Amino acid sequence: MAMNLQQMLRRGRAPAESSGPFRGITVTVIATMLASVSVYLRSWAAYDRLSDSVGNTAYSIFSTEKDHFDFIIVGGGTAGAVAAYRLSEYYDVLLLEAGGEMNDFQLIPAMSLLMLNYPEVDWRHKTVPQRHSCWGSPKNRSHWSQGRGLGGTSNLNFLIHARGCPKDYDLWAQLTGDPSWSFDAVLPYFKKSENYIGRWQDNGFHGTRGPMTLIEPDFTGVGETWVQATVEMGWPRSDINGNFTEGFDTTTYTMKDGRRAAAYGAWLDPLRNRLTLTIRKYAHVRKVLIDGQKRAYGIEYERHGQIKHAFAKKEIVLTAGTMNTAQILMLSGVGPRRHLRNMGVPLVKDLPVGLNLQDHLSVYLGPFFVNEPIKFSIGDDVINPSTIGRFIIQGKGALTSAGTQATGFFSTKLAKAAGEGDWPDVQIIVCGVSAGENFPSEIARGFGMKKQLWQDYYEHAIGYHSFFLIVSGARPRARGYVRLKNTDPMSPTRIQPNYFDNQHDVETMVEGIKTAVAIVEETQTFHDIGGRFTDKVLPGCEQYKFRSDKYWECYARTVSVSLHHIVGTATMGAEGSPGAVVDTQLRVVGVTGLRVMDASIMPRVPIGNTNAPTIMIAERGTEMIINLWKGTRLGDPLGVLKRDIPSPLIQDGSGGQGHMEGKLFHPLMDEYPKCFIVGADNVGSKQMQQIRIGLRGTAVVLMGKNTMMRKAIKGHLDNNPALERILPYIRGNVGFVFTSGDLVEVRDKLLENKVRAPAKPGAVAPLDVIIPAQNTGLGPEKTSFFQALAIATKISKGTIEIINDVHILKPMKKLHDSSH
Ligand SMILES: Cc1cc2nc3c(=O)[nH]c(=O)nc-3n(C[C@H](O)[C@H](O)[C@H](O)COP(=O)(O)OP(=O)(O)OC[C@H]3O[C@@H](n4cnc5c(N)ncnc54)[C@H](O)[C@@H]3O)c2cc1C
Repeated sequence: MAMNLQQMLRRGRAPAESSGPFRGITVTVIATMLASVSVYLRSWAAYDRLSDSVGNTAYSIFSTEKDHFDFIIVGGGTAGAVAAYRLSEYYDVLLLEAGGEMNDFQLIPAMSLLMLNYPEVDWRHKTVPQRHSCWGSPKNRSHWSQGRGLGGTSNLNFLIHARGCPKDYDLWAQLTGDPSWSFDAVLPYFKKSENYIGRWQDNGFHGTRGPMTLIEPDFTGVGETWVQATVEMGWPRSDINGNFTEGFDTTTYTMKDGRRAAAYGAWLDPLRNRLTLTIRKYAHVRKVLIDGQKRAYGIEYERHGQIKHAFAKKEIVLTAGTMNTAQILMLSGVGPRRHLRNMGVPLVKDLPVGLNLQDHLSVYLGPFFVNEPIKFSIGDDVINPSTIGRFIIQGKGALTSAGTQATGFFSTKLAKAAGEGDWPDVQIIVCGVSAGENFPSEIARGFGMKKQLWQDYYEHAIGYHSFFLIVSGARPRARGYVRLKNTDPMSPTRIQPNYFDNQHDVETMVEGIKTAVAIVEETQTFHDIGGRFTDKVLPGCEQYKFRSDKYWECYARTVSVSLHHIVGTATMGAEGSPGAVVDTQLRVVGVTGLRVMDASIMPRVPIGNTNAPTIMIAERGTEMIINLWKGTRLGDPLGVLKRDIPSPLIQDGSGGQGHMEGKLFHPLMDEYPKCFIVGADNVGSKQMQQIRIGLRGTAVVLMGKNTMMRKAIKGHLDNNPALERILPYIRGNVGFVFTSGDLVEVRDKLLENKVRAPAKPGAVAPLDVIIPAQNTGLGPEKTSFFQALAIATKISKGTIEIINDVHILKPMKKLHDSSH
């Protein structure tokens, strides 16, 4: 059986039949593609966009595009994927994403560097020129990658799962005045998303039942050596996702079967057929529509050249990432009054949107040489038939590494002097990537740096066993901003991070660099394998004494790169506090129906990597929403659709728009082996809700118009001709109950929910209606009323008595006014 590239990459293991000549061809194809990533990405993205556009056009010919949903989520990245997953369990959700599908090569961790900085998958933001940093980047502008497409930045990141330390979140609680953001309080939300497999599994800090698998990659390269060296220096091997202060560990990745599995793999991909989730790709959101009462009620977006609108019955959730969420808010009139006035945007709410911008500025420190072949080279190992084969078949080997092989945190003497020795101010990430032929140019291209500088500096390392370190300022003092450049939603924004404007950040970095070098040069562990820092001087820093503090400062100001942990532009704070854009329920202050739920709400960047905290925020935020709207899931006057396998399902296909024709009906037909038709006359919404609860985990109820049900069945006859026999039974007010369980049991559960209902003219009687013989208690003056209905009576003790049982209605007979 032949599998295509997509199947091989996505499905984990390829079947045994794929060995032999086919595998050889595949390897060649992959190697060729890797050699020309940009050409491949261009044609792949053109195909994806075109097929989305054609599909959309075809859909709009046959059907009206739905535009009302319970919730609209803007941005299908890290946070947006979690929000879509959680909210569509209960509600009808629209997810709007400006980009397209995740690219298959992004599944391969070792491709991470090679996937950066292409417009098809990356927003490619640029900061304004930096005075005190980024001298090694063209025009001193820092390059900021951000994922474009379903999965967002979790498709581009380096897979490290590191939450930060407890103090980070205790500080959030302190800054916002809300203890529910302390570490102890947010820990359950970190755990909720996780399926952790690893050495720290039993220490109480890890979830094991969430959708996102966390695991150490199969290939850890120089990582273990690094951890041993740091232990030798006195730091513990620490669970850097637990209750640690300092220490290092080999990396834990968001990965399954050796493939990247974060927002896309863990949250979105499994949802592609969930009927309560509508995903619109290539939908670039222009602004939130907010009415005169300051209520957010809709979204304006552009898709395939057309301006469109969608409306939220309940809330709008912004998850477009730190830069783009700020841009959308400001374009919608929510932002600093003066700035919006200068831009000509009518003010809706004066809030400090775009301020408090923070990031981990980092230095790429290397090359460090070693004598042992503990390296990992993109040139040798990634484009190598044997590693490719191993990866595809077993999900193992060098391709499971993004190059980031160990990480950890320590406190410099500056932190200790400030009495914060238990709150690290430096993170080090170990990148066991040897400098192959293309390494300098790939690094320069991926991180938007000067190619010539990297080539000149790294030339001497090409072909030798080496690695480099990312030294990152974990608690920066720099604060910047994001502003609109103009009112064009497609335009980039003006980004000013003010890197290294603060001397404290520079001094922390210099201390971090010196400690990093010491770990390699002053430990027996590295001594045994000849570990040493290069003696090549960085071009541009020749005037300083090599390895002096001034030299390291020059080095840091030159080779300064964003670690892409960008947060803070829609800061969470206590309501009424001047810095707050959202309150601690993540609601935009002063605007109803609008929340922000991505990295932008972090009041302070945690010391670790930001993917895990972003997921935690989305887990918390969606739970807040679900709690708020609890009780409105069914019987909602707005006609909510529900779908959640295997949880309880009641679906209302009466909304039209093809729900019955295929969208709901066909998957249920295919999924459940048994189904029966039920009469639903006089069933109220509350009763439906009780039925739903009664059937939880057992069955799905689908209601809809008979014409649509018939149409849906006829459309499915090719797959299952036996369905034709159902057609005669679709009469009156009926619905379908689908189940994999015992039909009798399901029927009994339905019957348990039978309630009495008053007779209404026009309704069909479900059973015999008999007035038993009895004394009515009415006076003799009412006798003519009974005579008119031909009911025999007599007067007994001064009141009217009905002599015989009166059979008013037989089953299936319609009620007329005279039946009352
Ligand atoms: C190169 C790189 C390496 C990183 N490495 C790590 C790491 O190893 N570990 C870690 O924890 N973190 C890492 N990070 C950071 C981490 O991935 C991010 O902090 C996190 O993914 C941010 O999530 P988000 O939901 O806020 O935004 P995103 O994931 O960026 O999601 C925003 C989504 O909104 C969409 N969007 C934007 N504007 C619009 C619009 N106008 N209309 C419609 N849709 C829109 C985007 O296309 C995107 O899909 C890295 C980041 C980068 C760039």
